[in-house]
Amino acid sequence: MLGSLADLKNSNEEHDVVIVGGGAAGLTLAHALGAAGKSILLLEAGGDKRTKASQEFYRGELTDEVVHPPTHNYRVRAIGGTSTIWGGRAIPFDPIDFEKRPWVPGSGWPFGEDRLSSHYTQAMEASEAGRPEFFPEDALPGAQKELAPGLDGELVRTTIERFSKPTNFWRRYGEELTRSDRVKIVKDAPALHIQLAANGNSVDWIEVAAPDGSRIKVRGRSYVLALGGLETTRLLLASNDVRPAGIGNDSDHLGRNYMSHLCATAGTISFAGSPDGVAYDYARDDEGIYVRRRLWLTEKAQRDFSLLNTTFRTHLPEPADPSHGDAILSAMFLVKDMVLYEYSRKFVENPVSWGGRLRHVGNIVSQPFRLASFGTNWLRQRTFAERKLPSVVLGSRDNRYELEFHAEQAPNPDSRLTLSTQRDSLGVPRLKIDWRVTELDLVSLEKSYGLLSRELALRGAGRLDFDRDRLVFKAKRHGIVGGHHIGTTRMSTDPKDGVVDADCRVHGVGNLFVASASVFPTSGQANPTLTLLALTFRLAEHLGRIGEVQPLQVQAA
Ligand SMILES: Cc1cc2nc3c(=O)[nH]c(=O)nc-3n(C[C@H](O)[C@H](O)[C@H](O)COP(=O)(O)OP(=O)(O)OC[C@H]3O[C@@H](n4cnc5c(N)ncnc54)[C@H](O)[C@@H]3O)c2cc1C
Repeated sequence: MLGSLADLKNSNEEHDVVIVGGGAAGLTLAHALGAAGKSILLLEAGGDKRTKASQEFYRGELTDEVVHPPTHNYRVRAIGGTSTIWGGRAIPFDPIDFEKRPWVPGSGWPFGEDRLSSHYTQAMEASEAGRPEFFPEDALPGAQKELAPGLDGELVRTTIERFSKPTNFWRRYGEELTRSDRVKIVKDAPALHIQLAANGNSVDWIEVAAPDGSRIKVRGRSYVLALGGLETTRLLLASNDVRPAGIGNDSDHLGRNYMSHLCATAGTISFAGSPDGVAYDYARDDEGIYVRRRLWLTEKAQRDFSLLNTTFRTHLPEPADPSHGDAILSAMFLVKDMVLYEYSRKFVENPVSWGGRLRHVGNIVSQPFRLASFGTNWLRQRTFAERKLPSVVLGSRDNRYELEFHAEQAPNPDSRLTLSTQRDSLGVPRLKIDWRVTELDLVSLEKSYGLLSRELALRGAGRLDFDRDRLVFKAKRHGIVGGHHIGTTRMSTDPKDGVVDADCRVHGVGNLFVASASVFPTSGQANPTLTLLALTFRLAEHLGRIGEVQPLQVQAA
């Protein structure tokens, strides 16, 4: 059901679980726990849609404004959270990601991939991304296995990435949650403070701001923070009256090891053989799910060469350079440059001149039919489609593609979120963000390019041309993926090594849990949401076992 802050003000009701945050994690958890018979209160800071005013609460201080995107972009403070704008790429972590790898300081999860595999199946179902099949022979039986003929070996393999619709989790679960009498959702209810008991070992209540300026205390038996990686860390840091360094920060890990992924295009891959042999495009599996082939440096490659986990995708020619002469690319450049901050910031050092822009217009005007046909398909397959074509991909007549990397970042305690001296209009300190790339990240990326280049040549499958300095520049300067916020409440078995335990419970605080990618100790090559959802289902199982389970009651619609 939907509730209001006025109801909460006048009620002494104590819920089994209070969830803070109604994004992919919070809504999925509420749905799973509601189904397990728990009484749930979900507090969501935003309303039905993001507004300029709501995004303003996300503004933070950056140590480098070119390197890190503004914190009020790339996440959404409204019901559904960032799932209202995400790209839907659904990829699990690889078994090696959970291991302690001697060449990656701070690596090693408290459990192995086997402890998450059944939850990955649930996560795939929740995100409407199909079956958990990530190799071409499983996902596309009978179809071409390799991205390009002769490419796969024991060090480089073609794997599959799958795509969600992309699912907006409020659209997915909102109606059911609204009808459930076990789950109460309160929008426009920003949590300001977590009040610990005087001994610091449990949460007494969460303080919520009401629109009239008053403060409301909300109580539950257990509390789950699902505010996204940055806000979860901020709330823990800012709730520092009982624990002066913030909650869960006895070992000084809270806010540290801030990771994203490194992703940019660098270098050109030229495949041997016919352009028709390259499976660069999206395919649909037998359930109609979009899937796409990409290249992965295998676990053997990572072990043999001490690499971080890294994947590669064929990519479009750089749209910003009008010499490609392609109307579609020129139109993409002009639209994206105007609309998308993350896109336009790549040209801060080398802005495209007015002459260049005119050449883009020339490309567009010279190929009206190509552009019109593309536009019609785009409207059909993307704008009006329920399951959306994930992105534009174009084949290459000369069999050359730009190469995009998507690479793991290693944990680094100096890459860090702290509290700023500035406060938002509700009085909560804003975040100060000092995101860093390590030497290990850059060396690994360079070695990964070298290895791929060598393997292509050895196998006669093609050639990779890249400039080392350009690669490093792109990774350092424009590499961060704006929406991936990982590591700042890291999971550890021993309280001295992290913020939460293997059950995502904050060390030393019996009834406080975190459902966020911020608990990942390492970042892997995969985009974070599928693993976040798998962990959320694991947490639901854990919380579902606490206390007595009652049957779900659903009110008539
Ligand atoms: C453009 C873009 C594309 C992306 N594409 C992909 C992709 O292809 N694949 C992938 O795996 N990931 C992708 N991501 C990342 C993905 O969106 C996130 O991993 C995921 O949405 C995080 O979910 P969450 O529930 O942890 O956080 P959020 O979705 O951020 O939800 C947090 C919720 O908490 C609420 N909240 C915040 N503060 C408070 C407060 N004080 N009190 C109460 N509520 C509060 C917010 O309003 C929000 O509803 C993308 C991100 C972006 C920005």
